[in-house]
Amino acid sequence: MIYDVIIIGAGPAGLAAAIYAGRAQVNGFVLEKMSPGGQVLITDFVENYPGFFEGISGFELVEKFTEHAKKFGMAIENGEVGSIEPVGENLNIHLTDGKTITTKTVIVATGATHKKLGVKGEQELTGRGVSYCATCDGPFFRDQVVAVVGGGDSAVQEAIFMTKFAKKVYLIHRRDELRAIKILQERAFSNDKIEFIWNSTVEEIIGKDQVEGIKLLNKVSGEISTLKVDGVFIFIGIEPTTQFIRGLVDTDERGFIKTDEWMRSSRQGIYAAGDCRKKPLLQIVTAVAEGATAAFAVEHDLE
Ligand code: NAP
Repeated sequence: MIYDVIIIGAGPAGLAAAIYAGRAQVNGFVLEKMSPGGQVLITDFVENYPGFFEGISGFELVEKFTEHAKKFGMAIENGEVGSIEPVGENLNIHLTDGKTITTKTVIVATGATHKKLGVKGEQELTGRGVSYCATCDGPFFRDQVVAVVGGGDSAVQEAIFMTKFAKKVYLIHRRDELRAIKILQERAFSNDKIEFIWNSTVEEIIGKDQVEGIKLLNKVSGEISTLKVDGVFIFIGIEPTTQFIRGLVDTDERGFIKTDEWMRSSRQGIYAAGDCRKKPLLQIVTAVAEGATAAFAVEHDLE
């Protein structure tokens, strides 16, 4: 069987593509390696998606997207893509479990994952106080002291979220100015539980079986200090999940897939949408728009 389209990834971009492809009756399905949702699933609160001005949890929003895609007949199947191989005019998708799916087109909507600090103790203590998901692990730190690392929207938003549980939240940033949008900055600055540690990087995460503290380097004074914390939440940006397609399509130096305005990659039949794509604004609203555009392009190009 040769499908018309396989959508890889069931985050907002993939699910929006599924809604449009399903509605256009393009023959295919969505492949997802875990459960639908992508990064939004672990976002506590979304307040900038149109229509939800009172805010909605990432979990609830994803449930709505998933239901919507299913309503238009798009199935979501479990499977992890190992590689994609062009065969004549078609593409063979090789799954890591050994199966192969043949399709005329692919929409890559695999999103991105969190970057790691790469310091001593990080890997060893992951799940033992080191976390990349405040929504998942926040409640374990009730009345404790935590550090949040980073200065972007994620770090600031999650630091504010952590104040619901922790008695104190240190926000550690490598510069003296946040990258996050002003509204988040203002909320963080007016939150008494958050203390900012500027111009500082985490050099080591200390702890035997559990996080006990972090070693900090002040980049201005050169001073090294130790801060006692029970948890470390790391939000220092993201990297695209595109390893399986590197070399097959053009990407930038960080691996984000380059596309035209129709979401077509440099290789015929392969499209990209969402956070795995090179673009200026990584948001749910742009991801869904790109998913819709990619599905529209697929339908147009197949015709
Ligand atoms: P980001 O915007 O790339 O910010 C990463 C932060 O981590 C920056 O402040 C950066 O410092 C710092 N950083 C990077 N590498 C570091 C290292 N090795 N050590 C210490 N600090 C390091 O990433 P993000 O906050 O995860 O956001 C990703 C995208 O999602 C953005 O486009 C963001 O707007 C979007 N997002 C939006 C929302 C929202 O709309 N509410 C929420 C979450 C995320 P510098 O500032 O010095 O570079």
